[in-house]
Amino acid sequence: MRVLVVEDEQKVAHALREGLEGEGYEVTLEHTGEGAFFRITTETFDVILLDLMLPGRDGLQILTTLRDRGVKTPVLVLTARDALDDRVKGLDSGADDYLVKPFAFAEVLARIRAVLRRGRVADALRLSAGDLEMDLETRKVTRGGRAVELTGREFELLQHLLRHERQIVSRDTLARDVWQESSRSAPLDNVIDVHIARLRRKIDLDQPVKLIHTVRGVGFILREGEP
Ligand code: CA
Repeated sequence: MRVLVVEDEQKVAHALREGLEGEGYEVTLEHTGEGAFFRITTETFDVILLDLMLPGRDGLQILTTLRDRGVKTPVLVLTARDALDDRVKGLDSGADDYLVKPFAFAEVLARIRAVLRRGRVADALRLSAGDLEMDLETRKVTRGGRAVELTGREFELLQHLLRHERQIVSRDTLARDVWQESSRSAPLDNVIDVHIARLRRKIDLDQPVKLIHTVRGVGFILREGEP
């Protein structure tokens, strides 16, 4: 599980990282709004802990922009004790939950587990983008109502792209999450490219609206129309 911690207070940020890594989470730290925004739009995370008071672009602006762009990653907002107004604004802006500072680490863990669980329940059975639909229970995929036959790996690959719809997914991420290879290698890059090409033939060939796109030098993105 990958967690992005966006927090400008070094002490809080490092305590969170240490604690979360101790629980087996993979943690990335960002200290500014701009840095966080860049991370979120170029990498994928399972959950984001977002401080609202940040130098530069503040947490609420980041959250609003992300949700406008269709990024669905669960976000836990971190707010000061007396900033009740912020909590309300945070939830209105698309936060999944909030934590009031100073917080107990056990509380952080409990909230993370809760938003991850909710996420899984909410999209437990179906994923879709445009007229592409994936049923995770029956493992059936359709585009415009017509069945698409996929191999097991193609199914996993498409599922990953759908879960991160409208986000750029790097080959590193695919190697790790779909192929379960911790280190990416040149041969694996080729394997990934071959699978993407096959998947694209099955999903996008003869379709007026393409869904799977290559972002040169970066990776891939699933979205309706050109990225
Ligand atoms: Ca702060």
